[in-house]
Amino acid sequence: MALNQGGSGLSKSLILKGLQCHKALWLSKHPPDFPLPEKPELQARFQLGTEVGILAQQLFPGGTEVPYEGLSFPEQLTRTQQLIDSGAQVIYEASFSFSAIFVKVDILVRDGDAWQIHEVKMGTGVKDVNLDDVAVQHYVLSGCGLTISKCCLVHIDNSYVRQGAIEVDKLFASEDISLQVLARLQGMPATVEELRATLRGGAEPPIDIGPYCTDPYECDFIPYCWQHIPADSIFELRGNGVKKFDLYRRGIIRLADVPLNELNPAQRQQAEATLIRQDVIHPQQVRAFLDTLWYPLCHLDFESFNTPIPKFDGTRPYQQVPFQFSLHIQHQPGAEPQHVAYLAPPGIDPRRELIGQLLAAIPAEACVLTYNQAFEKGILRELAALFPDLAQGIEVRLANVRDLMVPFRRRDVYRWQMRGSYSIKEVLPAMVPELSYAGLVIADGMAAMQAYHDMCALEDPEALAQLRQAMLEYCRLDTLAMVRILETLRAIGKGN
Ligand code: SF4
Repeated sequence: MALNQGGSGLSKSLILKGLQCHKALWLSKHPPDFPLPEKPELQARFQLGTEVGILAQQLFPGGTEVPYEGLSFPEQLTRTQQLIDSGAQVIYEASFSFSAIFVKVDILVRDGDAWQIHEVKMGTGVKDVNLDDVAVQHYVLSGCGLTISKCCLVHIDNSYVRQGAIEVDKLFASEDISLQVLARLQGMPATVEELRATLRGGAEPPIDIGPYCTDPYECDFIPYCWQHIPADSIFELRGNGVKKFDLYRRGIIRLADVPLNELNPAQRQQAEATLIRQDVIHPQQVRAFLDTLWYPLCHLDFESFNTPIPKFDGTRPYQQVPFQFSLHIQHQPGAEPQHVAYLAPPGIDPRRELIGQLLAAIPAEACVLTYNQAFEKGILRELAALFPDLAQGIEVRLANVRDLMVPFRRRDVYRWQMRGSYSIKEVLPAMVPELSYAGLVIADGMAAMQAYHDMCALEDPEALAQLRQAMLEYCRLDTLAMVRILETLRAIGKGN
């Protein structure tokens, strides 16, 4: 048995990229002379994946790791060979190369004369791309002379509720995917040869854009390959109506060229409004919505985080845990709002303190205005279940929740700049152009979530204070945006 059959020209991730799109594989080896934006979120995701992978190793304790850092590829292969020869039962990150394909196996477990492959993912189920992933590993390990007795996908079980220390056997679920992997193995040599031929090609493969640009992953080369798509294109159409790539293949790219009768009513309204730069306003319906609100009126927004490994007792994987709120309270229409905010200090379970402060700030009789109520209501319900002594107070506020998104989702008000969306990030600039997230250090919910993680790790008090200030500013703008949008709606409601 030799764990290095040939040099290492391909890797598992390159093969998976090639399976998504041959051009993406080719461009990975021949980067275009074109500025591609950084994707800092990928680094955060990678770190999270590493944490999950290390935790899953406890399912098979006593193994030895073949580290990626600090060892060259040949050294990783040699170290793996030594561990196998010395009778190791469990190897983490075991490394193999066959047919110039280098792979690392998350957890390799000896099973008599054979071996089991356990691939760890931080998703909550098995996806097709995971099967391809393990099939590549099986192909390489078999090529190196190992017998594979079983392939498993170890993923997060999101029904697990943390109580005390993490119980790895409950946090993770393992699915035997051996049969699906075997079914994919047959075509593997031909697939690999096809990918090699692509890489050998001197010219960029003539592959046009398609649904595979975002499936299963968002491709890194979208800014390069999509350069020819103009503003106001068919890809701006929202909703599930017409199939955009069907239009594209018929040569229809600009909204101006779309046969309007092929669109559903919402898409048609979007296309027409965009083309003639015309807004749709129904003051009567806006008034009907405004009549459902009352004062005092509290504009509420939560920021939350979720992680595959639950951080606090009583939480599940990927459960949204609130760590911050912003509240703008108005006592009558047009009154200057009073602002109240909460941002958890690092390192504590923030939920009790957060809900305590929120209940103190929102009068029981107040109307609680949110933007996309499902999110805020979901958090309030979970807090009510967690703190029975506060449940009654929370239920009273829950019953008073109203949703500022309603008139935009119903298109009582639709401005062409909203590009078919009713998300607050599109609605705000269209309704209140003078108020903007531009220039803020933190400009969206994902960045706020990352900031919370960063905050919990920061030790420098000055950096911590700056980050907290940025987080407070972002969340404050979310509810201030609601105040200003409501004012604009009130002005519209006065019309005919
Ligand atoms: S953007 Fe689309 S066409 Fe271009 S390389 Fe990526 S997947 Fe292929």
